[in-house]
Amino acid sequence: MIIFDPLYLVFMIPALVLSLVAQMWVKSAMKKYSRVPARSGVTGAHVAREILRRDGIDNVKIERVSGWLSDHYDPRSRTLRLSPDNYDGRSVAALGVAAHEAGHAIQHARNYTPLLLRQTMAPLAMFGSNFAFFFIIGGFILGMAGLVHVGIILFAAGVAFSLITLPVEFNASARAKHLLPQLGFIQRGDEMTGVIRVLNAAALTYLAAALAALLQLLYFLYRAGLLGGRN
Ligand SMILES: [Zn+2]
Repeated sequence: MIIFDPLYLVFMIPALVLSLVAQMWVKSAMKKYSRVPARSGVTGAHVAREILRRDGIDNVKIERVSGWLSDHYDPRSRTLRLSPDNYDGRSVAALGVAAHEAGHAIQHARNYTPLLLRQTMAPLAMFGSNFAFFFIIGGFILGMAGLVHVGIILFAAGVAFSLITLPVEFNASARAKHLLPQLGFIQRGDEMTGVIRVLNAAALTYLAAALAALLQLLYFLYRAGLLGGRN
């Protein structure tokens, strides 16, 4: 039974450890730098609005959304949503997150290829991550290799999605790190260090998720005998 397979743990433990470290790091960086006010005195919502305005983007809405770290850009409705702490906040962390989300809106406006690919893959990836396990586990139980293979292909779609997420996220953060000091919202030096720490910690969570997905795929491939392993 793959559920109780010690080999599964060998594959997954590095990814789980990295995920936990990343989660802890992002929480502590956010906590620390949401208490450090930026000297510019502006809010996250203001930063997002200004970045979009200076890029000539006038068709993106900026809204407040409930929840902690619920910040995101929704390409379908062209809406940039910031959690209350970051929408109204004037901290180094709030401005960093707001500029990162504005970075996604700029990617969208400029048809940044990885973002478009990610959007195209989203429905299949969603289906894959919901149903791949049924096919894989069902296939193993019933001894039907075909079912296992369909499951692995579905799972691979989810893995591809988490991999294409990486350039999208790294690029949005790179834009934020470039624009914040350039527009005078964040001062170079200690404020910029805070922004970099918050955004890098967030990037590590995406990296950990992609690694976990990739290792899981390798495990399934190995167990299905497609990597030279036995069934
Ligand atoms: Zn992002």
